[in-house]
Amino acid sequence: MSDLPATRVRCPDCGTVLDTSTAESACPKCGGLLAVEHEPALRGAALRALFDERAATAALTTNAVARSGVWRYRELVLTADDDTIVSHPEGNTPVVARDAAAAYAGLDGLLLKHEGHNPTGSFKDRGMTVALTQARRIGARAVACASTGNTSASLSAYASQAGIPSFVFVPEGRVSAGKLAQTVAYGARTLQIKGDFDDCLRLARDASDTLGVYLVNSVNPFRIEGQKTIVFELLQQLGWQSPDWIALPAGNLGNTSAFGKALSEAHAFGLIDRVPRLLAVQAAGAAPFAQAYADHFAQRISVRAETRATAIRIGDPASWDRAVRAIAATNGVVESVTDDEIFAAKAVIDRCGVGCEPASAASVAGVRALVARGVIRREERVVAVLTGHLLKDPGGNASHESTPPLTPDEALALLREVIDQG
Ligand SMILES: *Cc1c(COP(=O)(O)O)cnc(C)c1O
Ligand SMILES: [Zn+2]
Repeated sequence: MSDLPATRVRCPDCGTVLDTSTAESACPKCGGLLAVEHEPALRGAALRALFDERAATAALTTNAVARSGVWRYRELVLTADDDTIVSHPEGNTPVVARDAAAAYAGLDGLLLKHEGHNPTGSFKDRGMTVALTQARRIGARAVACASTGNTSASLSAYASQAGIPSFVFVPEGRVSAGKLAQTVAYGARTLQIKGDFDDCLRLARDASDTLGVYLVNSVNPFRIEGQKTIVFELLQQLGWQSPDWIALPAGNLGNTSAFGKALSEAHAFGLIDRVPRLLAVQAAGAAPFAQAYADHFAQRISVRAETRATAIRIGDPASWDRAVRAIAATNGVVESVTDDEIFAAKAVIDRCGVGCEPASAASVAGVRALVARGVIRREERVVAVLTGHLLKDPGGNASHESTPPLTPDEALALLREVIDQG
């Protein structure tokens, strides 16, 4: 092993090394996005045993850090004092199987890992617990992000818990009512911006550069470290047996990057002996990464994004380079699906009692598309990640309508009719 510290921040493009107290997201030398690197003392079976022991006792404690499905993997996330850590707790999300979803995708079996079960209803909490812990470690006076809604809800909750003022920039009229309500309720100063998400992100970066506000968008390397635990936790739930595929929706590409990094590290540190293939799924109206993939990533593309799946309505993804590395490292595939395909998949997920927000259903829609094209075989083991909760986007749930208001007598008559029809 090297004499470098067990955890460090490094620029993958030029190799510049910084210590973990940095507030930067981008390399001061070349501008590339920084990454956190680890040299865990334990590897292979010993590291698995450590994580398994923590998982076995997690449910029996009220200590947030000990219970958290993020800090369980702290050797591969960030080492911080328990008193500094800002944890709800988060993680420990279920993996469920539903025959109807598998049949819809065209598979013998399909597992759904539901990140909507996090405290604010999306996987963003896994990155935010680490970002706010880092904000505390470096003594940040304020934190800020641009968001399509879920990042801001999560930031608002974790910043309030940490006692750090927070600012969020959201695109005017483009954030679902549920997400906006959460963001305001948890206490962030919420600024609606005339522009789209990409404009909001530029603004957040400017605020960080000129005002010294700590930026916690997914360009922040510590958020990526937290989001990796979706994969670590999934692998652990599968008994450290890799599935063949892991599918996820892709917008700003932070999560795609996190998944690729998690799988590379899980393999390098001996947690698994085979790397699953990643399937990153974009909405057809916001699919620059899928377009570039089809052209072997010959160039970086940006588009003006349009889709009803607002969480992935992003035209100029910030984590481009590291997502390209994630796809390369996992022999991955990038697919795009139409809004109609997304909402059809969502209706199936909803009606088997699981439910998710629209963007989340892109993962299942993408799996179905790849099965139809023969890229995924029906007997392969596939996990689709559902990134957000059904209640996040109440307007996106129109697949089943309720009746107009009825009197109790009318309701009973209707019921009799429906039940008699069988
Ligand atoms: C943020 C988000 C995504 C997209 O993740 P990226 O890291 O931006 O690619 C997908 N689904 C939901 C519900 C999200 O909140
Ligand atoms: Zn650099």
